[in-house]
Amino acid sequence: MKKQQRLRVVIKGAVQGVGFRPFVFNLAKSLGLKGWIINSSQGVFIEADGSLPILGEFLLRLEKEKPQHAFIQSLESSYLDPAGFKIFEIRKSSDRGEKTVLVLPDIATCPQCLEEVFDPANRRYRYPFTNCTLCGPRYTIIGALPYDRPFTSMKDFPMCTDCQREYEDPNDRRFHAQPNACPVCGPRVYSCNPEGDLLAENHEAIKMTADCLRNGKIAAVKGLGGFHLMVHAGLSKSVDLLRQRKKRNEKPFAIMVATIEEVRDYCELSSLEQRLLLSPEAPIVLLDRKPDPKSDGISKSVAPGNPTLGVMLPYTPLHHLLLQEVAVPVVATSGNLSDEPICIDETEALDRLKGIADLFLLHNRPVLRPVDDSVARIVAGREMLLRRARGYAPLPVMMTSESKPALAVGAHQKNTVALQVGANIMISQHHGDLETAQSYDAFQKSVDSLERLYETKPEVVYCDLHDGYMSSQYARELDLPLKTVQHHHAHVASCMAENQLNGRVLGVAWDGTGAGPDNTIWGGEFFLGNQADMERVAWLRRFRLPGSNQAVREPRRSALGVLFEMLGSEITTMEGIPTLSSFDENELKILLQMLNSGFNSPLTSSAGRLFDAVASLIGLRQVVSFEGQGAMELEFALKGSDQANSYPFSYSDELDWLPMVREIIKDTAEGHQPKLISAKFHNTMAEMILAVAERVGENRVVLTGGCFQNRYLTEQTISKLKVAGFTPYWHQRVPPNDGGIALGQLYSGKGHKTGM
Ligand code: ZN
Ligand code: ZN
Ligand code: FE
Repeated sequence: MKKQQRLRVVIKGAVQGVGFRPFVFNLAKSLGLKGWIINSSQGVFIEADGSLPILGEFLLRLEKEKPQHAFIQSLESSYLDPAGFKIFEIRKSSDRGEKTVLVLPDIATCPQCLEEVFDPANRRYRYPFTNCTLCGPRYTIIGALPYDRPFTSMKDFPMCTDCQREYEDPNDRRFHAQPNACPVCGPRVYSCNPEGDLLAENHEAIKMTADCLRNGKIAAVKGLGGFHLMVHAGLSKSVDLLRQRKKRNEKPFAIMVATIEEVRDYCELSSLEQRLLLSPEAPIVLLDRKPDPKSDGISKSVAPGNPTLGVMLPYTPLHHLLLQEVAVPVVATSGNLSDEPICIDETEALDRLKGIADLFLLHNRPVLRPVDDSVARIVAGREMLLRRARGYAPLPVMMTSESKPALAVGAHQKNTVALQVGANIMISQHHGDLETAQSYDAFQKSVDSLERLYETKPEVVYCDLHDGYMSSQYARELDLPLKTVQHHHAHVASCMAENQLNGRVLGVAWDGTGAGPDNTIWGGEFFLGNQADMERVAWLRRFRLPGSNQAVREPRRSALGVLFEMLGSEITTMEGIPTLSSFDENELKILLQMLNSGFNSPLTSSAGRLFDAVASLIGLRQVVSFEGQGAMELEFALKGSDQANSYPFSYSDELDWLPMVREIIKDTAEGHQPKLISAKFHNTMAEMILAVAERVGENRVVLTGGCFQNRYLTEQTISKLKVAGFTPYWHQRVPPNDGGIALGQLYSGKGHKTGM
């Protein structure tokens, strides 16, 4: 018998009273699954034990074969430990305790609305704000609860008699659809030049924007959760111009493609990836590019040196209409300058995006909060969210018991915040790095708005141990009891929370950097314990980072630190190492002085920086334009490799990578390909995790931190652990990166100190 897992599915939407429960019951029975389904005020919950392939089939058929009038607004699935169910049953709804009214995320346009928009005979023909109870804006238009039109950004658009009739008719698809609108009464689109002069209205404005895009111009398009900057994805010159104006050098852009059929022209597409693209959440999905010539329709500048593409489908009627007119894939990147939050307001956009966009496609429905596109990837046969925003926020992670109201302010990068309301942990959308005044402002507003929406005043606040973080400073200024949680401890707790783990685990937290309690920089840590109380049991050998934070932008600095750890000042006698030849003589002298004296060269055990170092040592990357680029390119380098070998390492308390680095330098000198070296390096890193698991002897191993966005590392580690009889856990609904920290901070308060 194949190994059993438990699939947990939470569905929101019009799935009540349409024969959904009997449908699920019969489907589960026919597949031989055991478990239950419950219909509650919080949505439909399903749990089923079975083997992975059968559960995967169940999930796909759940959506494909659902009863005709059932509509799924949001479906979140995750895989957990099997529960040992004996039968499949329909359980009685067990609504107990206070009922939290959930704010739904924004939902991609449903098929019925889409049909109307493209039907010349329909009164909503080409109307970009068409929506119904089953689809459309939610979180981005809600000012306060209850979710009624007067409390949304639709309040200034009184419904016409036709819309009002639909709104009041219980048999209509638009019964109580708060954002209901039509060309007569609803919001409108228009286009402007950068000076703000009106150029065209309604469909003419969309056509004008499409023409402009086809001609290689850059457009700023106001959408659902803010602005996109768009440009023809096939024209390298235009894409490069956007990079130059947006001050974004090489970081990959996402593209929007009109239809799923067209996605297939450019990318490999598995059934799971297809499901994800077409889901109501409609995230950006990272897909492998096709090597064949049709891919030429997408310029190399969209994602330089990157074998994957971030792809999304249109998710509002406005995007559908625009893409149909443009008739080519477009780059759709957040409307901001690098590192700033996404623009939401037209006045602000005309100001902040002036000098970037040649044309503005605007509308007069206010966006109440910035919500970026979400990003997901299929890893080890499951969805993994890398950025949790549109379509997902502010849906909660549910706990098994209620706790008093608490706020967690998250980390500094990829910030999210989380609010505990009863048994739910509401997770905000991604705010980006809290580097600029604008992103700090978005962060503060998000805290306020979550508290306001759920009428919840936190009684305690959690923040990172690092008191230099803007989020930590914010937490300190609140008049509330403060709990600090070490960064990597929070990572482990975050992964435990979404996998519903309680009690003892081995936590593996590998990421860029986080403050350790010993005043070194952590990032390659192993913990034993529970969510509340864990002890560090192993770590990667430390090395110095000359220039501290500057090493993030220069992998060669990490590499220099690694070489220094190996050889001290002897480094200069080494020859043929790409890292060393990338510095000029003077730079090298200064950096070596820093390393010798320890000045501004903190010790780190960071796994992310070790990936960077190897990227530099083998000559792949010396300087990067965004964090993690070196590590990313190291992952890309191994694509297509079936190399199973690895390098030696040693292990006492520390995992010592010295023997590995020596071999890597030797392999590089002997002219071995980066593909081979990278694969061997990744395999070694996975073996290090296995070595710790075997020594510690704890069966449950939790993999978390930004390094586990690396698909190869994650899949290798999972498979090595499984073969050796361990049970690995990884992230699914919440990102492995710092976007998951807020959840982990809250969950660290849920366990008991064991006194171990
Ligand atoms: Zn609809
Ligand atoms: Zn109307
Ligand atoms: Fe982190």
